[in-house]
Amino acid sequence: MRYCSRCVLPDTKPGVVFDDGVCSACRSVERKQKIDWPAREAELRAMCDRIRGSNGDGYECIVPVSGGKDSFFQAYMMSRVYKLRTLAVIVAPHLQTIEGIENLNNLVNVLDVDLIKITIRPSIQQKIRRVALLKVGNPNYAEHRVIFAAVARAAFFHSAPLVVWGEDISVEFGGTVASTSASNGSAEELINNDLFREVGFSELLGGSIPDRDLFFYMDPSADSGKRRAAESIYLGYYHWWDGIKHYDLAKRHGFQARRLGPLSGNVLAYDNIDEKLCEIHLWFKFLKLGFWRATDHCCYKIWNGYMTRQEAVERVREVQYQFPVEYFKEFLEYHQLTESDFWSCAERFRNLDIWHKINGEWRLKNELA
Ligand SMILES: [Zn+2]
Repeated sequence: MRYCSRCVLPDTKPGVVFDDGVCSACRSVERKQKIDWPAREAELRAMCDRIRGSNGDGYECIVPVSGGKDSFFQAYMMSRVYKLRTLAVIVAPHLQTIEGIENLNNLVNVLDVDLIKITIRPSIQQKIRRVALLKVGNPNYAEHRVIFAAVARAAFFHSAPLVVWGEDISVEFGGTVASTSASNGSAEELINNDLFREVGFSELLGGSIPDRDLFFYMDPSADSGKRRAAESIYLGYYHWWDGIKHYDLAKRHGFQARRLGPLSGNVLAYDNIDEKLCEIHLWFKFLKLGFWRATDHCCYKIWNGYMTRQEAVERVREVQYQFPVEYFKEFLEYHQLTESDFWSCAERFRNLDIWHKINGEWRLKNELA
């Protein structure tokens, strides 16, 4: 396990390559600095001008939202700046936080947009999450799948010509990039990105859940004879994606960070704070790849010029071994696991190439320095 000499990303991250000790995410930042952003912005403006008024009385744009800072930015840009008739769509988290609920309400009130909420049958989602947790240590697989497919269904249903996603996580975080995303901002291949790399959906379920229970897990383009109604883009292709600026914008409009400060293992108090199930999901990355939230947060700050590498090293070393205790009990209840079930599951995913025990405690063999 080696670490990038500019940021603190390790080479265990799938899709990341190093050259001269520098990771591909840092190289992507270099490329971003050379992009003609005003030209890209003009391209988006022209696209919106073409779309405006093209769908009769219907919506012109669908923005998937979580209530987080980035979705605030997306909805703000599309409704206020580009002035498209915007429909926000949320796939409701099953265990929302108070901040998540209030931030979502605030987004709707402040931006004065319509919102539809898709809530997935709990029994099916619980089943899929449990399978994904036990089989591949990736419990949020279910939600990731639903978000892409359900938003595509909403766009299809409303014949909206445009769906606006935020950032391409593969471009921003240095993973495997779909060829179309990097070259033209298209999010058509979104469902093929890193989030699903471990195992295909049907392979994961192994026929355990009938298709009729999976409507919102299946992209409508998979239905015979139906065509995708909308074009899908990443806003991050047209505007430099800076989550910290998005936080400032959202905060000026009433967005609130987590009241009790950063969760265990986190550096930021305003990233991914709307629901309770993703912390443990992300912590599994620590077992498998040797990094999780603290590294992600610090890399993000370094890439956008808010933190030095030295500061990042100190912050990551300070917090990354903290276990996400805050919502652990609710996580166990949701997945119907005892604490000992959980730990025996977790230990199956610990990567012994990168972990060893020192004085009875699990530590990374190669600590960040
Ligand atoms: Zn780097």
